[in-house]
Amino acid sequence: MNFHSVRFIALLTIIAGSTLTRSFAQDVVVPRNFDAEIEAALRSAKRAAGFEFLGTLNRICLLPASGGVNTSDNLPRYVRDPDTIPAREVWYAEPAKVYDNLYFVGGKVHTSWALTTSDGIIIIDTIFPYNSEELIIGGLEKLGLNPADIKYVIISHAHGDHIGGAQILQERYGAQVAMGAADWDLVTTYPNRYATMAPKREIVATDGMQLILGDTIVSLWETPGHTPGTLSYTFTVFDNGRPVSVAYSGGTAFNFVNNTPDPGIENFQIYIEAQQHIAQQAEAVAASVLLSNHSEFDNAVNRNKMLAGRGDGPHPYEVGAEWVQRYFQVMQGCARAAQLRLEKELFENPTL
Ligand SMILES: [Zn+2]
Repeated sequence: MNFHSVRFIALLTIIAGSTLTRSFAQDVVVPRNFDAEIEAALRSAKRAAGFEFLGTLNRICLLPASGGVNTSDNLPRYVRDPDTIPAREVWYAEPAKVYDNLYFVGGKVHTSWALTTSDGIIIIDTIFPYNSEELIIGGLEKLGLNPADIKYVIISHAHGDHIGGAQILQERYGAQVAMGAADWDLVTTYPNRYATMAPKREIVATDGMQLILGDTIVSLWETPGHTPGTLSYTFTVFDNGRPVSVAYSGGTAFNFVNNTPDPGIENFQIYIEAQQHIAQQAEAVAASVLLSNHSEFDNAVNRNKMLAGRGDGPHPYEVGAEWVQRYFQVMQGCARAAQLRLEKELFENPTL
């Protein structure tokens, strides 16, 4: 058989194939099995999580979606009435030196990080307005660092548990605050919601922007979904002088579902694509550490305890590049399962 007849037969096969596909599509309607699709998405998330990311899996795959976030312009309860501030024992955690240039200055639940550079300190996320003073400022002092050296504060997203201390740090130390455009807009649109935690608009982060301070670069990545302006980051830390790449995941839970009119299917798509984006950036720098701003997602508080007894052993935060990728697969699998649940609901109740 010469080349031309091979090509002719191949062409016939394509034509026959497409005819078959068409007639099959016309005659048989295969109903979508949403439950099987949801199950497959959950299975992929569970497989990716292994024993390493059970907190994240639990929160966004297994537990019911957390309640909607504050969409009103009312004063938050803890600002309005200091008696409602949770007891210190609920949130206090010891600060810790985690890498040569990275310090944990967060709490038991919500966390904050200090990246030290040759020209000052970058604070990555703050906590609530009521505990930033003790955890961030007090934490830095306890670790022998000077809060007056804070030059930049990067806020992953404008929820009260992460933006809470930004105004304090900006006003007291003249630190410049960076955040995504859409989340800056939230701060100006809802003055009561952000009372005591509304930094002046300064650096508007864009995808791929590099925040440079002295010898240190933090790359900012837009990862919308959790909020429209959510940011994630990649940067380098040093373990006894050895460089280690970090991927920082800026927004996780699906508490937007109750706030999105459409009812969230599109928002989940944005979320999934954002996770693919940060996963690619993490892969590009071979990130082998995954950090977050909630200890339930990156297990920071427990890892800090392990760090204290590390000796010459491996660094407890360094899970390896493959596991960092698996983290983002957990987020995608759980988001896909939640998106499919909404698609199923819409399919069964088209008037929604
Ligand atoms: Zn949030």
